[in-house]
Amino acid sequence: MIRIDSVTKRYPDGTVAVDRLSLEIPDRAITVLVGPSGCGKTTTLRMINRMVEPSEGMITIDGVDTRKQPVNTLRRGMGYVIQNAGLFQHRTILDNIATVPRLLGTGKAEARDRARELMGRVGLDAALAKRYPYQLSGGQQQRVGVARALAADPPVLLMDEPFSAVDPVVRKGLQDELLRIQDELGKTIVFVTHDIDEAVKLGTMVAVLRTGGKLAQFAPPAELLSR
Ligand code: ADP
Ligand code: ADP
Repeated sequence: MIRIDSVTKRYPDGTVAVDRLSLEIPDRAITVLVGPSGCGKTTTLRMINRMVEPSEGMITIDGVDTRKQPVNTLRRGMGYVIQNAGLFQHRTILDNIATVPRLLGTGKAEARDRARELMGRVGLDAALAKRYPYQLSGGQQQRVGVARALAADPPVLLMDEPFSAVDPVVRKGLQDELLRIQDELGKTIVFVTHDIDEAVKLGTMVAVLRTGGKLAQFAPPAELLSR
């Protein structure tokens, strides 16, 4: 379990992005961080993989302080998906995904097999393997982003507005795919969105943040107040 324990983030310019936030993020479930722009969602997500360091408080994983592990080890256990997928533009789709197992020491043929399997898992046609990112739609690129994040088989996926840049129909497909992946693979997912409908659809637990980086509610979707 990821435990955020009374964490505050104050940026050097004095902005308090997150204010004494405590959350227990359950394993093998989707926890959604939702709230208006600027309420500290991205900052919270990035503190989990230490792209941002908390000013106060502590984050533990299965009881171990994240500061006690080498950051590379920590991040190997956490896939990270961002809004515009962040793909390597000059590599094929297959290589975008296969790069991750390659970096972890897997042989070329096996890494490509794994990449093909992951393409199927995220609903990408095998015929797209040899294309480059610019030849894919936004929704397809996001699927590649998810496949790449899964490529190291991390127990945790951190997702920052991964589906916000695609149109509503494609977004619904991506959401359904994520629910299916979660069901099949049992990943622990922390999912950031500003869209309450998306939060309610995807969240096993929903953390509602409000401006100033304070936690307003933390509950299963059915128990959220004043939706
Ligand atoms: P959200 O993801 O909910 O939109 P963020 O975590 O990105 O919120 O930002 C929370 C607050 O912290 C905002 O007021 C934002 O402007 C501020 N902020 C984010 N990153 C920085 C930074 N590097 N330096 C200063 N302020 C920042
Ligand atoms: P995202 O939603 O992906 O975080 P943003 O546009 O909010 O994208 O932020 C882009 C980058 O700028 C991030 O690295 C964030 O930390 C930084 N940033 C955001 N708000 C501020 C701010 N008020 N001052 C300085 N840096 C900021």
